[in-house]
Amino acid sequence: MLSRWTARPLTSLLARLPSQCALCRDWPSRPVCEACAARFAASAPRCQTCALPLPAGVARCGDCVVHPPPLDACLAACDYAWPWPDCVADFKFRGDTGWAGPLAQLLRAIPRAAALLDACDRVLP
Ligand SMILES: [Zn+2]
Ligand SMILES: [Zn+2]
Repeated sequence: MLSRWTARPLTSLLARLPSQCALCRDWPSRPVCEACAARFAASAPRCQTCALPLPAGVARCGDCVVHPPPLDACLAACDYAWPWPDCVADFKFRGDTGWAGPLAQLLRAIPRAAALLDACDRVLP
């Protein structure tokens, strides 16, 4: 009979080990600690169609009003600025799948995300 610990897949056990935040090096932490996520991916008002940053209270940018793009909505968890390009590149091009969860968590934290994901036909990353 296998013990409780040996019956679990090794990847499941490794995922539970403490690690450092990739940004501030605080640990034990997730790949991005809550303080860094709040600091570098703070919620900001954005165009509901293209996700361009906008002043509060403005729903759509002028470009989307004048020339509506062929998509219904776009979500952005943060600006494409430091530190996120390196994190995204690690995930997309360097095979670091450990970023999948934290990056998805940032996207799911956008207030409109759950409703849009439930209602959409397709998602383009
Ligand atoms: Zn951190
Ligand atoms: Zn727009």
